[in-house]
Amino acid sequence: MSRVVVLGGGESGVGSAVLAKVKGFDVFLSDMGKISEKYTAVLDEWGIPYEQGGHSEELILNADEVIKSPGIPSTAPMVKKIADGGIGIISEIEFAGRYDSAKKVCITGSNGKTTTTSLIYHLLKNAGMNVGLGGNIGKSYAFQVATEQHDIYVLELSSFQLDNVYDFKADIAIITNITPDHLDRYDYKMENYVKSKFRITRNMSNEDCFIFCSDDDITIKHLDQIVMKAQKLPFSQKEEVAQGAFVKDDRMIVRYKEEECDMYLQELALGGRHNVYNSMAAAIAAKVMDIDNEAIRSGLATFQAVEHRLENVLSIRDVLYINDSKATNVDSAWYALECQTRPVVWIAGGTDKGNDYSSLLPLAKEKVKALICMGVDNQKLHDSFGGIVPEIHDVTSAKDAVQLASKLAESGDVVLLSPCCASFDLFKNYEDRGRQFKEAVRNL
Ligand code: ADP
Repeated sequence: MSRVVVLGGGESGVGSAVLAKVKGFDVFLSDMGKISEKYTAVLDEWGIPYEQGGHSEELILNADEVIKSPGIPSTAPMVKKIADGGIGIISEIEFAGRYDSAKKVCITGSNGKTTTTSLIYHLLKNAGMNVGLGGNIGKSYAFQVATEQHDIYVLELSSFQLDNVYDFKADIAIITNITPDHLDRYDYKMENYVKSKFRITRNMSNEDCFIFCSDDDITIKHLDQIVMKAQKLPFSQKEEVAQGAFVKDDRMIVRYKEEECDMYLQELALGGRHNVYNSMAAAIAAKVMDIDNEAIRSGLATFQAVEHRLENVLSIRDVLYINDSKATNVDSAWYALECQTRPVVWIAGGTDKGNDYSSLLPLAKEKVKALICMGVDNQKLHDSFGGIVPEIHDVTSAKDAVQLASKLAESGDVVLLSPCCASFDLFKNYEDRGRQFKEAVRNL
């Protein structure tokens, strides 16, 4: 019996281990850290042996294949040893893809993955299709392949999840956009990060579709350098396209084969220019999946915003509090500021991932009346926005940030949490940050 070792005991790793067990492998899971009770319970239930708090080489280096969780970098000592030992390292997505014959709609990009993935899932589900939602969102893809039966999967794939795919093939692949992010995991080389995103198009044939933003210079530049067999379906807010989607006056128009579907931008459930992009990408995918125009329109009009993405929390004394905790990089915060029409008290900061704030300066100058830096080290924000924003303050908790913001904001203003940074200096993760923010707002 061949032996599969899974590194990492989170959603992805545990799902992979369950699938390996179902497929009859001798499976073992190992995690350097502590595995949460939620997942040890699953491993116990399925009778899967595991260890936590360290890796035992003798139980790992005898594997025929290793499934590495996306959170573990390829530079981790254990991963290096495995690679040096000539053992194949794959991702959960590669592994699960081997056992899944469903149609796959796969979404990657620097920003907008979760929103676009959720939109597509909503459109297909509303149309009555038997569709699973997975990848970087909700239940792991591998666990669903092990325990459920779907005709279609809509998968959100981060670049880390794409790094170890080889034979996996999407039927429809989407790259929402590419802007610098996570460069620490890519030797600080943008080229490596771009290539990793484009792995989503590997193995595609001319029967498959590639949906991308033709306003995105980095995507276009890379596309010019490679051979793309899949049918290219661009979306743009700048130019009309023959096939794909574009904006004309106050409408969004989708063209696929001989058909056309149009919709007023005002009817889209999600506001902001970035969400016009996300809605166009989703509508093209739905059109390719043969969803009729009326279902696409009603789906895009009724979609509920995903938590922590420009989520309106409450309006208190005519001050609107917005939770955009998921804005963990500069580009996402740019869109959040761009779509504000009222003066902004802006809460930003956290763990800086090598940010360059220069693209935000004009928007900050125009819209931000006060910046509240919520982080352990706020020096870079002070250096970047000092002299641009009238006042800058420092806080180290969501509660203090919200209380200070409520004092600085006047009727008609917006308090926007859109941090540009990761959350790990003060919070468990971005969800924790967003929830603490919302809790503080509710307690005002
Ligand atoms: P991801 O899953 O790629 O991180 P999300 O849909 O969770 O993307 O959105 C993350 C952040 O980026 C949010 O602050 C959101 O408002 C913003 N955002 C969403 N779509 C886009 C887009 N197409 N371009 C830029 N920013 C976006």
